[in-house]
Amino acid sequence: MIPAMGLKIYKEKRDFQKTREPRGVPDKEKRGEKADLVYVVQRHQAARLHYDLRLEEEGVLKSWAVPKEPPVEEGVRRLAVQVEDHPLAYAGFEGTIPEGEYGAGTVKIWDKGSYVPEETMPVKRVFEIKGSVLRGRYCLIKLKSQDPEDHNWLFFKMKKGPA
Ligand code: MN
Repeated sequence: MIPAMGLKIYKEKRDFQKTREPRGVPDKEKRGEKADLVYVVQRHQAARLHYDLRLEEEGVLKSWAVPKEPPVEEGVRRLAVQVEDHPLAYAGFEGTIPEGEYGAGTVKIWDKGSYVPEETMPVKRVFEIKGSVLRGRYCLIKLKSQDPEDHNWLFFKMKKGPA
């Protein structure tokens, strides 16, 4: 699975006759230049409980599945597995994905707000989260792997600064 390729994989995985998740039309949503970038974490009680971290970038939501609760404080590192891009409209999605469908279970918004990118590279992102639960500077770092199918990152809160 290659996560970074628009909404192709998102659509392939889902049957929109059966799930009420957003269809992802259009593929990339255009928003005002000055609109705040969307940040959301959805608590997803699927076969395994996890938290889906999503950050708006170029009209889609870059997405990571975090198996444990995202850290409010510094000093806690969480595994974050990058998954397929999701449509921007997904940021508002809450509900039940039916049994038998991809991601079957319940989705609830755990935190939402906006974020400000500080550093955006293919293997590292630093950004300020302006949510209700998570606030402050956070980092996502991709773990090195020989396997191109590995999409494991670490997600953690950083110290304040650079001032
Ligand atoms: Mn999920």
